[in-house]
Amino acid sequence: MLRYRPSKQLLADRTILVTGASDGIGRVAAIHYAQHGATVLLLGRDRKKLEAVHDEIVQSTKTAPFIVPFDLASLTKDSEANFTESVVGSLDCLDGVLHNASLLGPKVPLAHYPAPEWETVMHVNATAAFLLTKALLPLLEKASDASVIFTSSGVGRKGRAYWGAYAVSKFATEGIMEVLADELSDTHIRVNSLNPGGTRTAMRAAAYPAEDPFTLPAPEQHMDLYLYLMGPDSKGVTSQKFEAASWRGP
Ligand code: NDP
Repeated sequence: MLRYRPSKQLLADRTILVTGASDGIGRVAAIHYAQHGATVLLLGRDRKKLEAVHDEIVQSTKTAPFIVPFDLASLTKDSEANFTESVVGSLDCLDGVLHNASLLGPKVPLAHYPAPEWETVMHVNATAAFLLTKALLPLLEKASDASVIFTSSGVGRKGRAYWGAYAVSKFATEGIMEVLADELSDTHIRVNSLNPGGTRTAMRAAAYPAEDPFTLPAPEQHMDLYLYLMGPDSKGVTSQKFEAASWRGP
């Protein structure tokens, strides 16, 4: 049953950045955004995988995507200005950001959690999303109707044993979303978080190696919510925490 019917040109004339666009949910979201008319910026750390997504979009849509090969682990307070200039310096404005890239990290008790991995997971999943948002805000302010989506997780809303830095980084993600949404509450920029829930991707397979992936929804099954939140139909919706599994439509 369809929960929402986006118009074919829902995202026409919009420029949208998707992080972690090389694989999994981010890849599918980027393709769907392009299929609905958006010019997508595909950010990821693997150029070859990004090129494959780029080619798929060129072949299946009339849009011209850009690839942004960039490892979010290297985005620091020192490289922020460089990033802005070299990666997004050529843009006039930005209509949307899907913060989707994340690392799972080790699934071990906190007592045994290795500190270097803790820092990397916290950095890629939370700090880089903050730095990226900060760098992109001037461009988002220039759009007439902008949407920022942060990707959360069930363990970012209720902590669970052995999810370590991944869970803590998702709590931080929810915090960034709430603070930013409140700060931007009287602007045209809406800010929400989305928990896709268990979804058939490489990350899920790494987290649950014994699980049959075909018992899970594919990323495509969540795309109505990803489209709704990115497009104009969600105008005015802000500071909300969405669950793909229980969403029944606007
Ligand atoms: P995948 O591991 O399949 O894809 C993650 C994407 O993020 C890949 O494109 C990956 O790039 C990219 N990425 C990872 N690290 C970096 C980095 N340092 N710099 C740039 N890009 C990076 O994950 P999913 O598609 O499953 O997850 C997408 C989002 O959904 C994540 O935020 C995840 O936490 C969340 N989520 C997923 C669930 C699930 O069941 N799948 C459940 C709940 C939440 P590369 O191709 O190079 O690895």
